[in-house]
Amino acid sequence: MKFALLVPAAGSGSRLGSELPKALVDLGGEAMVVRAIRPFLDCEECRKIVVAAPADLIPDVQQVLQPLWATCELSVVAGGATRQDSVGFALDAVGDRDIDAVLIHDAARPLITVETIRRVFDALKHGADAVLPGVEVSDTLKAVAGMPPIVRETIPRKGLYAVQTPQGLRIAVAREAFRRARAEGLQCTDDVALVEQFGLGRVQICEGDSGNFKITTPADLRLARLLVAAR
Ligand code: C5P
Repeated sequence: MKFALLVPAAGSGSRLGSELPKALVDLGGEAMVVRAIRPFLDCEECRKIVVAAPADLIPDVQQVLQPLWATCELSVVAGGATRQDSVGFALDAVGDRDIDAVLIHDAARPLITVETIRRVFDALKHGADAVLPGVEVSDTLKAVAGMPPIVRETIPRKGLYAVQTPQGLRIAVAREAFRRARAEGLQCTDDVALVEQFGLGRVQICEGDSGNFKITTPADLRLARLLVAAR
C-alpha cells in the first residue's frame, strides 16, 4: 500500500507574530516545513509529496525543500484561501498514479515522529477508511458565552479527544470527500470531518502524541525550539 503526503503550508504567520509564513519560520536551523516532512521520508510507502504554499512564495518554499528532492518525488502547488482549499489543490496534484491513500500533515506540526505516522498508516492498512491521531482530553472543559466570558456548562470530558495530523484517508474516500465539499460549498476545519459529514466511511482514532502539537503562538514556537535543542 502506497501513500502520497499532502502538506498544507499556505497559512500566514500572523498569530505567530512573524513576517514570514509559518512554514518558513526557522526551528533549530531548519524551516518548519522541512522538519514536518522529514520523518515521512523514513516510510518507504511514501511515494509522492505535494506541498501547498502561499502562491507568491512558491520559489522560496521550493528552495528550502531542495535537500529533500533526492529522496522522494516532491512538488509545490499554490495553496488556497482556507486550509481545506490548500489540501484540495494538493490532492488535485497527486494525479492518477499508483497511490492507495493520502496522509495530510500540517506544516505547523514539525515535531511529528515516525511512530505516529506508522500508527496512522497501519490503521489504513488494516482497513480504516479514514484515521487520525488523537490524545484524550485531560483538562476540564467549560462552554462559555458573553463578555466577560461566563461559564454556561461543564462538558464531560470522557470520550473526548484532541485530534492532530497526519490524517489518513483512502484515496477514493479523499477524492469523493473533496469533490462533494466543492460541489456543496462545505468548509470544515479538518479533512476527516468531510468524511463524517458525507458519511463516506468510518473515521478511526489512533494514539496521538502530545509532543506533536501545532505551532500557533510565539509560546508554542519557544517550546518547540527548546524541545528541538534538547533532542
Ligand atoms: O491556520 P492553522 O494553524 O489551522 O493552519 C494549519 C495548517 O494549514 C498550517 O500548516 C497552515 O500553513 C495550513 N494552511 C494552508 N492554507 C491556508 C491556511 C492554513 O495551507 N489557507
